[in-house]
Amino acid sequence: MSQAKAYAATSATTPLAPFTFERRTLREDDVNIDILYCGVCHSDIHTVESDWGPSEYPVVPGHEIIGKVTAVGNKVSQYKIGDIVGVGCMVDSCQHCAHCAADLEQYCDNGAVGTYGGHDLIDGTLTYGGYSDHIVVREKFVLSIPETLELSKAAPLLCAGITTYSPLRHNGIKAGDKVGVLGMGGLGHMGVKFAKAFGAEVTIFTRSESKIAEAKKQGADHVIVSTDEEQMKAAALTFDYLLDTIPVQHDLNPYLNVLKVDGTHILVGLIEPVEPPVHAGNLVMKRRILTGSLIGGIAETQEMLNFCAEHQIECDAEMINIQDINEAYQRMKKGDVKYRFIIDMQSLKSA
Ligand code: NDP
Repeated sequence: MSQAKAYAATSATTPLAPFTFERRTLREDDVNIDILYCGVCHSDIHTVESDWGPSEYPVVPGHEIIGKVTAVGNKVSQYKIGDIVGVGCMVDSCQHCAHCAADLEQYCDNGAVGTYGGHDLIDGTLTYGGYSDHIVVREKFVLSIPETLELSKAAPLLCAGITTYSPLRHNGIKAGDKVGVLGMGGLGHMGVKFAKAFGAEVTIFTRSESKIAEAKKQGADHVIVSTDEEQMKAAALTFDYLLDTIPVQHDLNPYLNVLKVDGTHILVGLIEPVEPPVHAGNLVMKRRILTGSLIGGIAETQEMLNFCAEHQIECDAEMINIQDINEAYQRMKKGDVKYRFIIDMQSLKSA
């Protein structure tokens, strides 16, 4: 066992604070990673605050991890000491169901193990994430970080990146498609970059007029202010796909109406009941599709990292120290971050 320093939440209402715990002794297929950077995802906030039902505390969040390999188990073949690697939202899965066999570990029939808030498949212990100085992960769930990626900006690719890349790929987004991205936050701004890279004409839907200029700088072809009814009505029947990253309950009906016949609304932000209800007529009368998507498998995450390296796609980020994490959460809730916070984990040394 090795002692880890971390930041944890001990209840839904207390701020994150310094915390120590034991990481497991390396198994034969484990990699020990000293964490350099960790991105801050809105899912961290949802889990800390028990938005998705009661969380198991303490919660050590963080599933956008970049680090350096410092030890490997004796059966590890892909990684060696000194390699720069990543860990995303999963650290294990059953490896024998049909979905694991198809490289879709996120849909494992027996439940993939979350990087935090999950339970280790062997010893049953609670998993702790990347707001910590090191992590021990089964080799199969470790990603290789291409050398040309800027390390300090690569961490969010492990969640914000793959969660937007995967549904765009799965739906075959191509040149000429009209894609709307709902919400310009961590996921949304990556969605714009990938949809552009796949050749689509991209529109950002934002509540924030202040983000219009920024959205265009990000590569968006158009911006619609979603709180402006006239702009929403004018967009009726024009989109092939919507990628919805909004993290709270919101009315899907006005968005469904901007889709063409056979258009597809992909939810990635909402993991709770849809309120107000979807009017079935908005689907039936235009044969529209309402669907969802969860992160991506390990092989697809590696493909996405390689794609980013090849196409020079990186996250726009603001570096913070771990001591700033509670303030960062408050700013994220207000949509006040351009567009991802990344924690410099060296700051944990002085915590
Ligand atoms: P951010 O907080 O970075 O961004 C969310 C954006 O949504 C905001 O910037 C804002 O954009 C918009 N938004 C926020 N509140 C509202 C509101 N009340 N009404 C309308 N729009 C709003 O979050 P992330 O990008 O990190 O995460 C987005 C969601 O995706 C979260 O719920 C997260 O848990 C989920 N997620 C899902 C995954 C999956 O596998 N499906 C994986 C990872 C995350 P603007 O100011 O432009 O309106």
